[in-house]
Parts: sequence; C-alpha cells; structure tokens
Amino acid sequence: MAFSDLGLVPEILRAVTECGYNEPTPIQAQVIPVALTGCDVMAGAQTGTGKTAGFTLPMLSRLAPYATSSPSPARHPVRALILTPTRELAMQVEESVHKYGKYLPLRTTVVYGGVNMNVQIDKLRAGVDILVATPGRLLDHVQNKTVDLSHMQIFILDEADRMLDMGFMPDLRRIIELLPPQRQTMMFSATFSGEIKKLADTIMNLPQLIEVARRNTAAETVKQLVHPVAKEYKHALLTHLIKSRSLRQVLVFCGTKLGANRLAQHLSRNGIPANAIHGDKTQMARIEALDQFKQGVIQVLVATDVAARGIDIDQLPFVVNYDLPRAAEDYVHRIGRTGRAGASGVALSLVAEDELRYLADIEVLLNMKIPTEIVDGFTPPLDAIPEPQRSPRQRNDAAFRKPTEIAPKRAYAEMEVPDMPLIKSVNSTGKQKQVAALFLPPARQMSGET
Ligand code: AMP
Repeated sequence: MAFSDLGLVPEILRAVTECGYNEPTPIQAQVIPVALTGCDVMAGAQTGTGKTAGFTLPMLSRLAPYATSSPSPARHPVRALILTPTRELAMQVEESVHKYGKYLPLRTTVVYGGVNMNVQIDKLRAGVDILVATPGRLLDHVQNKTVDLSHMQIFILDEADRMLDMGFMPDLRRIIELLPPQRQTMMFSATFSGEIKKLADTIMNLPQLIEVARRNTAAETVKQLVHPVAKEYKHALLTHLIKSRSLRQVLVFCGTKLGANRLAQHLSRNGIPANAIHGDKTQMARIEALDQFKQGVIQVLVATDVAARGIDIDQLPFVVNYDLPRAAEDYVHRIGRTGRAGASGVALSLVAEDELRYLADIEVLLNMKIPTEIVDGFTPPLDAIPEPQRSPRQRNDAAFRKPTEIAPKRAYAEMEVPDMPLIKSVNSTGKQKQVAALFLPPARQMSGET
C-alpha cells in the first residue's frame, strides 16, 4: 500500500515524501483511512510503530480546509487538542505536526509544565489551530482563561495507558468535561487494561478498535541479550561493553533517580560522556540532555522509565537495561526505543541474581527465552546464571559461588585474565606507578577505569 492510496491531501503527501517514508507502517495503513472518516478510533500501538504519524496525518488532512495564512487570532481557534503524558513526548509530537504539516498554514503550539507560562500565553493569544499539551499545564491555562477549547473538533489522547499510570486520571476527567461533545476522539495506548477500556467507554462514541501489533512486536525486531553479572560489577561491565564494543548513542535504563545520577557520573569519570534524565531534573536540564544525546555530544543517556517515556530518537541503536524493570511491560516499552519502524537495534540487559524473577516474568510476557551471554571477566555468581546456561564446570567451580561465600575481588582474581596487562595507576602522592591488572578490582582490569 502507498501513502497516496490512503486519501490524504496532497500537501501532506508531499511532506511525507520529503520525510523519506516509502510506505505506511501497519498502524498508519489501518488508522488513517478510518480516522479520515471522522469516526472515533481506539488504537493499540506502542512507541516505534509510527503511531504519531498515524494520528497526525489524518488530523492534518481533516483540518486542511481551515488552513489559512490570515494573521487574525479569530481564524485560528483550537480545532485539535493532542494530550501526552510527558513534556518530552509533547515536544516530539509538536515537532511531528510541524514536519508533516509544513505545507499547510495551520498553527501549532505546545504547552507543558516546568517552564514560564508567558511565552505560551502569547502564542495561545495569537491563535493556534493545533494544541499539543500535557494535562496539568493545559488546566493551568484553562484556569487562567488563556485557552478556549469550545471550537475543538479533534481530541487525541496519546499513550493513554502511561497517562493513567502517572496518575493523570483526575486531570483527564476535568479536561474531558471542557470539550465539546460533538468531536472526533482518538485514543492511542500500548496496552488495553480494564481501566483504559472504561475510559474509552466514557469518552468515545462507538470507536473503531484497531490493534495491529501484539505487545511483543518490538521485541521481535530487536536483538536481545542478557548479560548475567554480580550487582556490584554492573557499572564496570557497562563501562567495559561501551568501550570495548565502541557503543554510541546508548540509552541506559536505571530503576531509581539516584542510581541514574550515580551511573552517569561514573561513566563520565571514566571517559564516557554521559548525562542523566529523571523527574528531579528541571525541564531545561532534561531538554538539554536530550539535545546533547541526539547530537552525539553525550554518548550515553541514563534515564528512569518515567523520564524516558516519549523519547523519540530515530533508529536508536542500543538500549541497555542496567536494572531490569519490575513490570515486564516496561521492558517492552524500553526496548521499543530501539529497532524503530523496522530498523534493527540491540537491547542488552545486565541481570543480577535478585533480578532473575523479573527476567522470568519478561520471558513469559514475550513468550520466548532471551539469549544469555556471560562476558569474559564478569562471570556472575552461580545463582545469577539462568539454569540452562550453566556449564558442568560452572556448577563445580568455587569461583562461581555467591560473593558472600567467596570475596568478590578474589573470585574475579581467580578467573583467567588473558594477558594481565600492566596499567597505570596514580598513588596518593600523585606519582604514577605500574601495577599488574590482576591485583586491581575487575572494573580496572577490564576497562582501565580510574
Ligand atoms: P512513532 O511510533 O510515532 O514514535 O514513530 C517512530 C519513528 O518512525 C519516527 O521516528 C518516525 O519518523 C518513523 N516513521 C513513522 N512513519 C514511518 C513510515 N511510514 N516509514 C518510515 N519511518 C516512519
């Protein structure tokens, strides 16, 4: 199927062609013709499937008759509202609307929290046809009477499941009450929980249900690998993997904000430019980190699940689960950051003994065993190796016992180290001395860390 078969206006087809898209993705092929008729759509699609264009292209096409270069604010009432759970996603959606709508004189702006409202107020006052917003800041503008939603015709709820996970239900209810009942509603969600279905029932009118991809689609296009490792050597293993395999543009997921900060600092100290994004960082800091990552100024972006939600970087090559998520579905979301729109990607997971139960849950959800590879020099304690991967030698070897039974440093020192290179170390007086790598902790043996 070609984009030209979908019924989109020529201005949009031109913009899509310029994006280099050859054909619609499955979600686009199904959603676009239905959405163009104006009926409600409930679509199951995760990030990386092309869902943003799936709702943006028909929205723009339906609004094309209103496109005007008139400077009058009255000619640009809010006709479409797109709600997203995070600021990052809101910015990316706005970028997509600009990209796909570049040949249509429709005005688009984005409002999100964490920044001064005045610039947003000026833009809203000047007239906006398409408004992309996060729920909290939209309600601030409603309260401030700086936004009028009474002319809205198209309402899009992006990543609805994540919005509920993040506790936006009360805000959503308030927003929905403000919307004209005569409208088209499109809801996109990676998962369809009971709560999502209930929400859909209350805000949509006989929606067309479209679910093109099973939840594990991303998992099938991404090369996944588990590296079992003792918890205390995860940072050393990550440094080693990044350096020895020259990994670039690596998105690393951490379970906690503190852990993300510490890991980014550790990587930076060891010559790998890295930054962390999480909920405690200011909006400016997050935008800056994301920009630096996109431009390749920083090699590694360490993120928590919430902060990473909505990050859209084309064909991101590597995702690393430094900590496995507790919810198996988050794993699918995470690895969906790579292998996007058919491009191949690699998702590595560093798994410690106490995370094996999460790994088991993930494998049940994916209905597959993720291949396991022990990295030379980072052999974990025996219990952290998934059962089928253990060799007879490992079963008997003292070096593979738990760190509590054998001091970790000694356990690593007892393992074979191929060349025992001499590396430099700086002593307390500032003088350099040469020491045999074997007598340093494994982090230094493997990656020359300081
Ligand atoms: P999304 O799922 O909306 O986050 O989109 C994932 C990525 O796929 C984005 O970087 C888009 O630019 C890209 N994309 C969207 N539609 C297509 C298409 N039809 N062909 C190729 N790439 C696409």
